[in-house]
Amino acid sequence: MNIILLGPPGAGKGTQAQRLVEERGMVQLSTGDMLREARTSGTEMGNKVAAIMDAGELVTDEIVIGLIDEKIRSGNTAGFIFDGFPRTLAQADALNELLSRNGAQLDAVIQLDVDDAALVDRIVGRAKEAVAAGGEARKDDNEESLKVRLMEYYKKTAPLIGYYYARGDLKVVDGMAAPDEVAQGISAALA
Ligand code: AMP
Repeated sequence: MNIILLGPPGAGKGTQAQRLVEERGMVQLSTGDMLREARTSGTEMGNKVAAIMDAGELVTDEIVIGLIDEKIRSGNTAGFIFDGFPRTLAQADALNELLSRNGAQLDAVIQLDVDDAALVDRIVGRAKEAVAAGGEARKDDNEESLKVRLMEYYKKTAPLIGYYYARGDLKVVDGMAAPDEVAQGISAALA
């Protein structure tokens, strides 16, 4: 089974993807994680996208499609969870193409529905928690980048909700509930 977790920054995509990995052995494909890894290892691509990511803007479709293409080609039987991809209509079209080229298909798109006003609090909370735990907050978990990330989401990614609804793939899950309940909602939607 291949699914997309769709929702704005702070909706809980990463948390829920992690649970699906643990419970179902699925493979999480987070383009955000892949890009952060590329930065840490200092690859040419990582250096190129660093400033864009810190500002909260989207990197080019070409780069993220290339990253996902490589992972899909490597294949897996338990299924992929696409987390933070696709984020544009061009990426959504590319994903269809990449999956079908590999004899696979998309089974469901889970939209984590959240209250817009709660997102800023959640993300600022996430940054504080990371620091309190002795770690470092994400460079883009600050109010200025967050405004840009939300605007990018509403301008470029939110149209995917209509796109997947029209394809009949969309399942809406209440993302405001506690993580356990959200996980149950996702299981019910996938049953
Ligand atoms: P995330 O961890 O999903 O919040 O992603 C962090 C940042 O990585 C985003 O703000 C973008 O700059 C970049 N990014 C991640 N996934 C994508 C994508 N599918 N398309 C474009 N940019 C992306």
